[in-house]
Amino acid sequence: MTAPVRTEDPQGARDPRQTRGSQELIRAEEPVLAHNYHPLPVVVARAEGTWVEDVEGRRYLDMLAGYSALNFGHRHPALIEAAHKQLDRLTLTSRAFHNDRLAEFAERLAALTGMDMVLPMNTGAEAVESGVKVARKWAYDVKGVPADRATIVVAADNFHGRTTTIVSFSTDETARAGFGPFTPGFRVVPYNDLAAMEEAVDETTAAVLIEPIQGEAGVIIPDAGYLAGVRELTHRKGCLFIADEIQSGLGRTGRTLAVEHEPVVPDVLLLGKALGGGIVPVSAVVGRREVLGVLHPGEHGSTFGGNPLAAAVGTAVVELLETGEFQRRAAELGEILRDGLAGLVGKGVVGFRSRGLWAGVDIDPALGTGREISERLMRQGVLAKDTHGSTIRLAPPLTITAEELTGAVGALEKALG
Ligand SMILES: *Cc1c(COP(=O)(O)O)cnc(C)c1O
Repeated sequence: MTAPVRTEDPQGARDPRQTRGSQELIRAEEPVLAHNYHPLPVVVARAEGTWVEDVEGRRYLDMLAGYSALNFGHRHPALIEAAHKQLDRLTLTSRAFHNDRLAEFAERLAALTGMDMVLPMNTGAEAVESGVKVARKWAYDVKGVPADRATIVVAADNFHGRTTTIVSFSTDETARAGFGPFTPGFRVVPYNDLAAMEEAVDETTAAVLIEPIQGEAGVIIPDAGYLAGVRELTHRKGCLFIADEIQSGLGRTGRTLAVEHEPVVPDVLLLGKALGGGIVPVSAVVGRREVLGVLHPGEHGSTFGGNPLAAAVGTAVVELLETGEFQRRAAELGEILRDGLAGLVGKGVVGFRSRGLWAGVDIDPALGTGREISERLMRQGVLAKDTHGSTIRLAPPLTITAEELTGAVGALEKALG
């Protein structure tokens, strides 16, 4: 991948107040920013489509896409236009009043996902928290579980966010250690193991909460039949099936939702990341009326959830997905990605898993850590991030071209060589 240096500044978009270079900015962060991240040493100053540009004007192909928050690329014109228009009219009302954008957002998001009702929130973790609360309320109000006895069954190696309740059912010691005491009421079973789930679900179970594909764990794709099995089991045992589609959903895997790869309709979907178009945090719990209908005024809320700017951007995102173009691109280009990665197996790649434009690539640990490979990729003009040891996650914007994708695979080959 070539990394051409842009010398001209056609839109005058470089901030004239930015007098410090990348190295200086990285050093400046050190004493004043909490150290809860270990970013690659690149300081991004602007971006468009699949490309980002650093402070010095070096360009990089973005193969992470904000952990799938940028499914439509950076600054997609339709999304930017929707945001600009809304910024000029109304940005926030709180839910104390109605706003004129929320009805359309909820109607179209429900229609896109085949669900009845929408609970708008902001971040992914809030959608998960809200899903947990709704499931518990449903268990008490509808299923008849005795007060404070509801359980939720989750999978090992899950990633659902960072709040205290969510890390309570994480199996990642780094995410948990030092943050207790933890919220009770969760049972962890191995992922992709229906027999273990069968045993864990009992009359206290409000819901099974899983990712249809485990992203942070390394793009772990369950066996064919697993999701249908979870649906059958939860139906038979009378509990809810909540699918966390925050990373897997909204086009990434070649379908609107990753659960659609099997004939499966969960009771509740958790959406986030790409729902905000890479512009504002927008998340939602989307579900059947029998489930989301358990909430009454005052029982749950959010100052920013469903704000008109978020609703306008979210509606524009739904509009892009209604065309089917991005799902189609992810499916078609996903073939190119898969073929390209297959060609690297034995040449530094020990194995990979992919669905649509989403791949977890296991690198031969002898060649370096995932971090080292990511740094080498960066020097090749490609930004990607390791997850768990020597796995590199690839998740480019769905707007990527075949040529760019082939270039990215070529850069990975070089980084491994
Ligand atoms: C990113 C993510 C979350 C949390 O989203 P935030 O917006 O970071 O709070 C939850 N679930 C999954 C599957 C995710 O990938």
